[in-house]
Amino acid sequence: MSRSGTLAGTTMQDRPADRARAYVGRFAPSPTGALHAGSLVAAMASFLDARAHHGRWLVRIEDVDATRSVPGAATEILSTLALLGMHADGEIVWQSQRNELYAAAFAQLAAQVFVCGCSRREIADSQTGELPGNEVVYPGTCRAGLRAGRQPRTWRVRVPSPAAPQRWITFDDRACGHQQQDLARHAGDFVLRRADGFWAYQLAVVVDDAAQGVTDVVRGMDLLDSTPRQIYLQHLLHYPRPQYLHVDLVRNAAGEKLSKQTGAVALDLGKVAATLATAARSLGLQPTPGLTMDGFWQEAIAQWAIRHAADAGRRR
Ligand code: GLU
Repeated sequence: MSRSGTLAGTTMQDRPADRARAYVGRFAPSPTGALHAGSLVAAMASFLDARAHHGRWLVRIEDVDATRSVPGAATEILSTLALLGMHADGEIVWQSQRNELYAAAFAQLAAQVFVCGCSRREIADSQTGELPGNEVVYPGTCRAGLRAGRQPRTWRVRVPSPAAPQRWITFDDRACGHQQQDLARHAGDFVLRRADGFWAYQLAVVVDDAAQGVTDVVRGMDLLDSTPRQIYLQHLLHYPRPQYLHVDLVRNAAGEKLSKQTGAVALDLGKVAATLATAARSLGLQPTPGLTMDGFWQEAIAQWAIRHAADAGRRR
């Protein structure tokens, strides 16, 4: 699969140096609760991919949104990962301690950023189109300046206009294949700094992936749709583009992604082998019963390498 794509009127080929970069992967949980069946699958996929590439695996706690962070959840996630045999290569990074980095990137984007005075309700009422996850497409109300009497609320980045030929973001996902998205129609000018003053996920994740030298993002399918926004920011900030692999998530009976809200049950940490085997099976692996934890991981890494042989082979 090619890693080139068109963006902002140019064809972006990876620089040769990028392809030779040593593999760096990461797991980036938001500490909104304990690790559950869905987030374990995302953790395992990123860990296996890093190990199958003889790469480094980093863990970053995405606690940039203090309103959603649950006290104690991050520590619990980290101890669960350790209990299950997933140990990070390097220091754990906490987004809540990296505000200066996000502010610096935001300053770099000043020419493309504008202040918006619209409330969520006003944007929802404008009904320009629905995005998954109850997000709506921003109608561009404050692009030309705040309306009289309005207070600044959020800071948004301008995306190419619907008429611009360079509005399509394209990329090749290792699992989902060729993807393209018209940012103007599917996202609109999106938020970098929120009304409550917190940096938005889209900005923080892009800044951190670049700062940590992440070459490969392996995560849940629910973020496939966010990827074009992240690629757009990488382009504006002159960051290298990682490779992406979005894996299918564990769903409940109604087909919803498992999360605390949709009734994800806690992992059974008294039965580590069974918990690992269930997650591995949902990634399409076939774990042999009765192995030690080391044996489980060795087999899982080998099976993952075969399943993703084309990608593993291309890198070397
Ligand atoms: N923090 C995000 C989450 O827990 C994941 C971000 C990412 O992997 O890019 O859903």
